[in-house]
Amino acid sequence: MNRVLGSIESGGKGPLIACVAGLHGNEQVGIEAFNRVFNKLQDHKIDFKGSLLGLAGNKKAIALNQRSIDYDLNRSWTKEKFEALKANHGLALAEDNELIELKHCLDDFFMAENPLKILIDLHATSSENGNFIVIPEDEFTHPVVKSLHQPVVVNLDRYVSGTMLSYYHKQEIVSFAFEGGLIGSPEALQLHEAGIWEILKAAGAIEAHDQPWEDHYREVLKGFNDGFPHSVKVYYRHPVEEQEDFKMKPGYANFQGINKGDHLADTIYGPLYSPMDGMIFLPLYQKEGSDGFFIVREV
Ligand SMILES: [Zn+2]
Repeated sequence: MNRVLGSIESGGKGPLIACVAGLHGNEQVGIEAFNRVFNKLQDHKIDFKGSLLGLAGNKKAIALNQRSIDYDLNRSWTKEKFEALKANHGLALAEDNELIELKHCLDDFFMAENPLKILIDLHATSSENGNFIVIPEDEFTHPVVKSLHQPVVVNLDRYVSGTMLSYYHKQEIVSFAFEGGLIGSPEALQLHEAGIWEILKAAGAIEAHDQPWEDHYREVLKGFNDGFPHSVKVYYRHPVEEQEDFKMKPGYANFQGINKGDHLADTIYGPLYSPMDGMIFLPLYQKEGSDGFFIVREV
């Protein structure tokens, strides 16, 4: 697989829009979604203002269809890590080259002085109702994010460090994770494809009247949002230790209401009960991952 899934450079001062898919190698739906949009843009010769870049995330993990190999590629975007790699303390682990290459491609792409720069990080989840946007709090009302009509999680970056979106947010690039839903589901593909179209339109890269399927994608997005909160804040995270044998109780979906004292999971240390009322968020239903679950509340 090539790192670059597709690129358009039209010059001028239109938006710079980068799409990364498969930063977690088992979440591959974003790759297909980007390819669909990109091919349609080409086939229909749609006029594009600005630049578009699609990148494959963790290529080695994608080939093995696993989340990561040596470390999580979405928890490693830190100054310390890049300094270590520069000093050549790295390059021994599977993700080192992936991280260096991705950073190089994105830094290069965002170098131009265009007024609007957007980084979309496409993910999927191991639990149901996994369609939402993760964005730092100061950007959560951005029109591009609003155009997606999905629940917005506004402060996850304070609980999870080293994400790609936090790294580029600090460089004044509108950066957000777009979670499409359950890994491998046709709905996630549909949602990601519809979402990328709406982002291109909201950012001003394409004109609405240039795409005959305009209303269709907006309706698809709205259809996925039925009954979900508009925006939520994270209040609690359960970090998973490697040896604790974390097992989420079955049946929890994102944004499902929970009460203080509910039995949420089990570990070798015993049962885990909810420390507060709220909604469950990102319950872990796969072996890999360092976040057991979060608790969120509507804002
Ligand atoms: Zn992910």
